[in-house]
Amino acid sequence: MGKIKSLPRQVVDKIAAGEVIERPASAVKELMENSIDAGASSIDVYFTDGGREKILVIDDGEGMTPEDMEMAIQSHTTSKLVEINDLWRLSSLGFRGEALASIVSIARVSILSRTHHSATGMRLRVEGGEVQELEAAGAPPGTSVEVRDLFFNTPARRKFLHDHNRESGFILQQIIPLALAHPHLKIRAVHNNKQLLRTSGRGEVLNAWGDIFDHSGREHFVTLEPVEKNYVTMEGFLGLPPLARSTGRGIYLFVNGRPFYNRQLIQAVLRGYEEMLPPGRYPQALIFLRLNPIHLDINVHPTKREVSFSQLPALAQNLTELIAQTLPRQGGPLPSQNTAPSRSSRVQEDPGGQDLFTPTLEKQEAPEEKTRSESSYSPLHQIFQVHQAYLLVETAGGLYIIDQHAAHERILYNRLAGEMPGQEKKQSRKNLLTPLPFNLDPTQEQEKEKIKDYLTRLNFQVEDFGPRDLLLRAVPLSLGPYLQERAGEVVRDLIELFTEEQREKDFLALKKKALQTMACHRAVKFGGELSSEERKRLVEDLFATEPNSTCPHGRPVFKKFSWSELEKMFNR
Ligand code: ADP
Ligand code: MG
Repeated sequence: MGKIKSLPRQVVDKIAAGEVIERPASAVKELMENSIDAGASSIDVYFTDGGREKILVIDDGEGMTPEDMEMAIQSHTTSKLVEINDLWRLSSLGFRGEALASIVSIARVSILSRTHHSATGMRLRVEGGEVQELEAAGAPPGTSVEVRDLFFNTPARRKFLHDHNRESGFILQQIIPLALAHPHLKIRAVHNNKQLLRTSGRGEVLNAWGDIFDHSGREHFVTLEPVEKNYVTMEGFLGLPPLARSTGRGIYLFVNGRPFYNRQLIQAVLRGYEEMLPPGRYPQALIFLRLNPIHLDINVHPTKREVSFSQLPALAQNLTELIAQTLPRQGGPLPSQNTAPSRSSRVQEDPGGQDLFTPTLEKQEAPEEKTRSESSYSPLHQIFQVHQAYLLVETAGGLYIIDQHAAHERILYNRLAGEMPGQEKKQSRKNLLTPLPFNLDPTQEQEKEKIKDYLTRLNFQVEDFGPRDLLLRAVPLSLGPYLQERAGEVVRDLIELFTEEQREKDFLALKKKALQTMACHRAVKFGGELSSEERKRLVEDLFATEPNSTCPHGRPVFKKFSWSELEKMFNR
């Protein structure tokens, strides 16, 4: 007998399951997609312990007959695909017929289902792929799938799961785009008996967005009216600067109603915002594409998250242009009265730049310890600004070309770092005139206590304000007036950073990033016009700080050409 044998079926299934179901969040996504395909109008998702212990998805869709239930859990069985050609035309979410088979092979599953025609429901119990029982059971029309002990028989995979907060964060990251893609559905997510999210199903994408995040944020979107180019219709909603965040998480892409991820298109969105947001700031945007599925390959990724397009570069280019055209012009009037102007428009509206740069005020609150001067920069020398981005400065030592944004960031960072306390010393705070309420998004809400603690350690004063809200009472004095005015934005960024960086372990590293975030926030936008007073202040401050040739993000702050280098350059 040869040495090569076929793997037993159950082993094959387990291997395949690993590809489809990476973590609890993937199971939630597959189950919800099935509910959507079954025509549900409401979907409730309950999970405990980050989905490791239990996931329960209940829908009011068309349900399954007992025969269908038994078929459904077999590999490569689906009601959604008739011929291979249909793969290209399919508009439903599922079609590979692997999800249920995968889930039942690596968990203890109980499926309860009843069609609208039948008087009673059926329950099917499956464990590790083995059917345990199929019995009549009372049930409302629709289907509920309960998944317990995911990965119980694949311990290696179970070991790789993160703590329950992180896993439930992943779950929400699957639920949110589906809820946005289907605003007509009532979707509810409950973790450990705590409701994290609920959409009303009133239709309208921004309603769903508001239900999930914040209804008052809705006024900061402009509508991207549908435009068709090269057979792709593009439309959506573009968030204005007040909604900007420190990560790209708020950018959602949909194609033919399906959430997806594509790096090039995310980049295309960011390029469309280039004029409006400074480096390090990301918009919130909901982009819906519609096209003939013939130009799509959705199945390339086992979890269907990645979609590849034919003619991607052209599509990306069109999207960038459309976004740039739709966003209010830099410095021009903004569509919403309540919209704070972007940094760049602020500079143009206010040539003195007092608000932005506040040289005198900042000087007061940050006592200068200007002792060293790396260069013998003399205030008599002129400072030229070129390309609205670089400063040319002559010193005794040579010619400096300074990146104004990077320089400002470096100065602010050093200042904040010098003044922002760790927990050790109590530092002065400034009370806000009106305390600022802000709401946590569903992912953050679960970590409210930790977030409060973290903000307190950064010298903010926050307290509880309703189940999903915090109240900001005071900010660190060292933020300076410009950032104090924008305390809401800053705090939101800091929280996002916290959830992103996954936390507690290293407060110092986190603090460093928090300082970068704040410094970047406050730094002059690359491309802003500076008054001569501002230029002077920037150069003086730069040379007064420990001259550091990189900004907190590691980009160069300046290039220096010594006189001898210049002479050499010109063969003198
Ligand atoms: P696929 O969704 O790719 O068809 P699945 O393994 O996810 O494969 O599901 C197999 C089949 O089970 C589906 O085609 C569908 O007919 C049926 N099914 C699964 N979930 C539900 C549900 N919630 N309601 C009704 N039918 C369902
Ligand atoms: Mg499916």
